[in-house]
Amino acid sequence: MTGRKHDVVVLGSGLAGLRAAIEAARNPESDVAIVSKVQLMRSHSVCAEGGTAAVMQPDEGDSFELHAWDTVRGADFLCDQDVVKRFVEEVPKEILLLEHWGIPWSRRSDGRIAQRPFGGHSYNRAVFAADKTGFAEMQTLYDTLLKYANVSRYDECYVSSILIEDNSFCGVTAWNLTSGEFILIQGKALIIATGGACRMFGFTTYSLTATGDGLAMAYRAGLPIKDLEFVQFHPTGLVPSGILITEAARGEGGYLLNNEGKRFMEKYAPSKMEVAPRDIISRAEITEIEEGRGFPGPEGLDYIHIDLRHLGADKINERLPMIREVAMRFNFIDPIYEPIPVRPAAHYFMGGIHTDINGATPMQGIWAAGEVACVSLHGANRLGSNSTAECLVWGKITGEEAAKYAAKHKESPPFKETRLKEEEARVFTRFSSKGKESAYRLRKELQRIMDSQVGVFRTGSGLKEALDRIQEIRQRLPDIKVTDRSRTYNTDLLAALEVENLVDLAQIIVTGALARTESRGAHSRRDFPNRNDDDWLVHTLAHYTPEGPRLDYIPVTITMWQPVERKY
Ligand SMILES: Cc1cc2nc3c(=O)[nH]c(=O)nc-3n(C[C@H](O)[C@H](O)[C@H](O)COP(=O)(O)OP(=O)(O)OC[C@H]3O[C@@H](n4cnc5c(N)ncnc54)[C@H](O)[C@@H]3O)c2cc1C
Repeated sequence: MTGRKHDVVVLGSGLAGLRAAIEAARNPESDVAIVSKVQLMRSHSVCAEGGTAAVMQPDEGDSFELHAWDTVRGADFLCDQDVVKRFVEEVPKEILLLEHWGIPWSRRSDGRIAQRPFGGHSYNRAVFAADKTGFAEMQTLYDTLLKYANVSRYDECYVSSILIEDNSFCGVTAWNLTSGEFILIQGKALIIATGGACRMFGFTTYSLTATGDGLAMAYRAGLPIKDLEFVQFHPTGLVPSGILITEAARGEGGYLLNNEGKRFMEKYAPSKMEVAPRDIISRAEITEIEEGRGFPGPEGLDYIHIDLRHLGADKINERLPMIREVAMRFNFIDPIYEPIPVRPAAHYFMGGIHTDINGATPMQGIWAAGEVACVSLHGANRLGSNSTAECLVWGKITGEEAAKYAAKHKESPPFKETRLKEEEARVFTRFSSKGKESAYRLRKELQRIMDSQVGVFRTGSGLKEALDRIQEIRQRLPDIKVTDRSRTYNTDLLAALEVENLVDLAQIIVTGALARTESRGAHSRRDFPNRNDDDWLVHTLAHYTPEGPRLDYIPVTITMWQPVERKY
């Protein structure tokens, strides 16, 4: 197997990829491929816990306008409001569609779909399946995908590059991890749905696979990357593993306590308390810790407590069974009787590949959806439960658009045959490296600098130091030595390729963060503590150059609400 031709190639099999593949495959004429570096159901989306935001009860007081306002305010006004409007109107349709496809949503006693509170939402809006929402969504989409005979699967295939000729997509190159072959997958249209890149941080809620490959490939192929300096820190990463204690734990009524046993959110967001947006709670926690009201933790991971005891055993077992299991297995703590140690953990990239409202990138035949994309829904800070919702909505939109595009174009554009050989040589060049560097050590060094200088609070001098360190790590990349020389399941080589991607993306984040001399949403500069709408109500675009990212800026679309002070 060296070459395969399809109409639509979907890169990634998380929520966004699966939803896109199903939509493209609903046209029986369309030949769809779905490629994933892991077995399809191992994508990070299965880890989503707390819920998916949607307006389901307009007769009981929720509305599209309210969901849109919460999202815009949560985003600190950096989102595009036309995008937000489309989003809130589309999600309920996706919730019902999944219901028809068989998802076991948690229910109220009157039989309606249950919804729980989530941070920054002013209505109980998160639809959920206990605290395993992502798993239920993935399983339902997977089962549905299996009904389509016009879908080919490439599981455990690591895509290494996107081939573009004359501004049009022509194919991707992939290393089949099971057979060792290096293959070309050609297509007329591509949907990039490769998820996030939080593994550049050491303390993170994300799976080991979240290494930003698709983002980095797109960047190197000439696609602009938008707003990457906005990284979300989730307030409740379990110490020391980083495993997520879902926001639903606070949505269901959990308290955050400092070392005096006091609820401290009153000082920072008196009206919302523990269900304020994540950026605000993360800053509150770090402030408590820095002012001496935290608990000492291992390796500098000082923490505060999340306390669920007052919820009682029944509620914990019914609504948060996985949280209880995780706390017991990993920390030997039973949350029915004891509080859980947590601190902010790197959790989500608000930025991503620049797309328009349809998920289309500036390159002909290429769309992006899900966490890898920046359709400009989340702005400077995402609200919890809006991401799985985004994956469903823009999975559908991009699947539909890409299939339409492919139907209009007879052939995928021609490209130079030599490119496959060149890329294969690049991927396997490490086998002949004489260097002594270890990919794992470089990753660790990158994580240390990102954790210490590019976290919840940032400063100009810290960011400059980070940029210098990243540049130094980047220069050492060609000297990575790979000891395993096999072409099948070579995780050593995989780690080397992934760390290259992380380093490129870290450079974009820090360059953007250094340039943005204001504080907005999750980007909080101690040396520029205020939001500055006169100069910075703009999206950052980063363009690839061999010397490092070149930045420029584009306006934010404001259709409904002018920016006002953000208070909770
Ligand atoms: C622990 C946790 C809990 C969360 N809980 C919630 C929640 O309750 N509600 C909510 O809205 N959001 C939640 N989120 C966020 C949300 O789950 C994610 O943003 C979303 O699921 C991302 O989906 P995705 O389809 O974009 O990517 P992913 O699910 O990350 O999938 C990425 C896919 O790309 C593939 N891929 C990547 N690189 C390559 C490559 N080089 N070659 C081939 N394939 C590749 C992977 O194999 C994978 O299939 C949570 C996140 C985490 C980590």
